[in-house]
This record gives sequence, structure tokens and C-alpha cells, in this order.
Amino acid sequence: MITPIRCWTCGRPLGHLWEPFKQRVLNGENPEKVLNDLGVTRYCCRRTLLGHIELINQVLEYSRIETE
Ligand SMILES: [Zn+2]
Repeated sequence: MITPIRCWTCGRPLGHLWEPFKQRVLNGENPEKVLNDLGVTRYCCRRTLLGHIELINQVLEYSRIETE
């Protein structure tokens, strides 16, 4: 839902890689090549970026608005 800040398994910081990864994949590059270029070599980290689905904007529509 929220962009993964770190790999769920090994803890490597990944938050700074999400935007470049997303942009390059949306522009038609092969995700495998993008991950190699970004230096994401461990399969746990690759899984974390590949498996992420950005749902935060849809979920925010249903968030509760706090009133006093
Ligand atoms: Zn990892």
C-alpha cells in the first residue's frame, strides 16, 4: 500500500528506489533490467519492489476524518 521504505526481509533501504523504478517501468523498460541497473541484486529486495502495488491514493478516499 505505502511505498516500502525497507526490504521486508533483509532491511535494505528501498524507499529511494521506488520512484525511479516505477517511472522506468511505466516508460516501457524491462523490470529485470531496471532492478539490475539500480543495483538491487538480492531476490528478497527485488520481490519487495516488484510485488508492491501503490494503493495509497485509493485507500485515502476512505480514511476517517477526525472531528473533535
Ligand atoms: Zn532484501
